[in-house]
Amino acid sequence: MLLRMSTLFLRTLRDDPADAEVPSHRLLVRGGYVRRVAPGIYSWLPLGMAVLANVERIVREEMASIGAQEVHFPALIPREIFEASGRWADYGDALFRLSDRKGGDYLLGPTHEELFTLLVKGEYSSYKDYPLALYQIQTKYRDEARPRAGVLRGREFIMKDSYSFDLSEEGLQRSYQAHRDAYERIFSRLGFDYRIVFAMSGAMGGSASEEFLAPTPSGEDTFVQCTHCDYAANTEAVEIAGPPAQDGSAQPASVVLDTPDTPTIATLVDRLNSLDWAEYGLPEQQFSAAQTLKNVVLKTHQPGADRWELLVVGVPGDREVDMKRLAGQLEPVEVEQAGAEDLAAQPDLVKGYIGPQLLADLKVRYLVDPLVVEGSAWVTGANEEGKHAAFVVRGRDFDPAGEIGAVEIRDGDRCARCGSPLEIARGIELGHVFQLGRKFAEAFGLTALGPEGKPVTITMGSYGVGITRAVAALAEQTHDELGLCWPRAVAPADVQVVPTGKDVAAVAEAERIATELVSLGVRVLLDDRKASPGVKFKDAELLGVPTILVVGRGLDDGVVELRDRRSGERREVPVGDAVSAVHAEASADQTSGGGASAS
Ligand code: ATP
Ligand code: MG
Repeated sequence: MLLRMSTLFLRTLRDDPADAEVPSHRLLVRGGYVRRVAPGIYSWLPLGMAVLANVERIVREEMASIGAQEVHFPALIPREIFEASGRWADYGDALFRLSDRKGGDYLLGPTHEELFTLLVKGEYSSYKDYPLALYQIQTKYRDEARPRAGVLRGREFIMKDSYSFDLSEEGLQRSYQAHRDAYERIFSRLGFDYRIVFAMSGAMGGSASEEFLAPTPSGEDTFVQCTHCDYAANTEAVEIAGPPAQDGSAQPASVVLDTPDTPTIATLVDRLNSLDWAEYGLPEQQFSAAQTLKNVVLKTHQPGADRWELLVVGVPGDREVDMKRLAGQLEPVEVEQAGAEDLAAQPDLVKGYIGPQLLADLKVRYLVDPLVVEGSAWVTGANEEGKHAAFVVRGRDFDPAGEIGAVEIRDGDRCARCGSPLEIARGIELGHVFQLGRKFAEAFGLTALGPEGKPVTITMGSYGVGITRAVAALAEQTHDELGLCWPRAVAPADVQVVPTGKDVAAVAEAERIATELVSLGVRVLLDDRKASPGVKFKDAELLGVPTILVVGRGLDDGVVELRDRRSGERREVPVGDAVSAVHAEASADQTSGGGASAS
């Protein structure tokens, strides 16, 4: 493949686009890979298409390696199909809806569970047909609330989505594992530094949902990783280790204290530390917010239930409740903050002074964060206006109905696996593997006739990779201050051959080297423009092709210069060895190949 810059449809830009917030956006636009049409909507130019094609090729190869077969669905989908799954309503504002000339309602597919399920239902009927895995690489539409960072979060974007269809739970586990393994190969071959993070808490069934994240400071997703072992989870799914259980019997009996006007934890701690403890027959005491127990009143709604129920969650007073984390664990039960009207039904709950001592009697469900360990002693509400109780011990003075990870995670919290400190990091979600189960098979009646003639409902897995996002995420992870810096496997070319100066000999020599390289299967971008060396070098740095071959002044001494774009390392090579040297670099990475469609 030989791309000539003299005719390539490419104009690089010297200035950053005004709306660019992150480096990948800035560089992909400046390098002429993409152009913006509207917020979250981009055109792909020849160099961008070359990178995209390489990503797609690797994804296709790995899908084929696990026996997944490629199909292609329309993006334009009639409303009825999304009505049947409930998603016409559930998807909300993120769904692009439109109508045809006859007034029929349509949508532009945000994902394609419905169509895959229907397709398989139409073709397959016997248990002998399964297992099955299908995928497509297709344009998706989501009216994102905040399209962002160029193609990282688009409103139109390309996704590889696959689905597995199995007869049994064990089958689903196997299909899930095969996809997970394929994703590991895909993201390694693409050249990513990535983490696999739990996206659903272990409590909900282990590996049912995992995300592949590319750690980068500009990422939108927050996740937690262990500084010692390989545990990683997104902040909704993370589990942390609590302190060891304590011996509560060593604690003094609980005592009710006068604490008027202490509506917040800070005012309570001040009051506690200025109390005359002798009045309570106790020695001087010092408390911190971490020793108070904050009881947050929420309400939950079971699917199909006709009313909401109160739920109180206890967390250490120096911690906030993370509603997203709670919601992730309670799903499909909904959870919200309780309002004044919800509390009105329980007049014994005194706002600001709620303690767990009374909740069991009131039949209000009470859960604690695992940081509130068995035997631990707390200062908490005494269920009376202006009063708190101290030395309230879990297991002695109250018994929660259970534990739920509720606190907002902090740097330094302990890993539930190995006890080492956790750290919070940011990343970009590259892909998602998910055990969907029977939700869509049930909605559409996807069953197979079993060996005894009984129908079996199919269980599904769903697996996505953001193709366009992967290009931007790679740029994000690999760029440097000079420009893009592609891993060879996705680079638009293996080598950029740069003749410098007006010397015809240099141009002719560059042409000769380029032609020989192409005949060896090396993908060459030849800068045959009539431009100054400075312009050519700047562009080569911006475009990010991994090897740069400078054919110029050194020719008089019989040498050319080979530059490594990433390390910046330069070495002189005799002209006669130029082809073999570049060829060696290009073949060093066995995962390279493919190429631009233009040549
Ligand atoms: P996010 O949390 O980033 O919105 P998601 O969880 O909604 O993503 P999925 O439905 O799991 O995404 O889609 C599968 C993959 O598609 C994601 O892992 C991501 O790589 C990609 N993707 C999702 N939304 C977008 C988007 N707006 N632009 C580009 N890629 C996207
Ligand atoms: Mg996801």
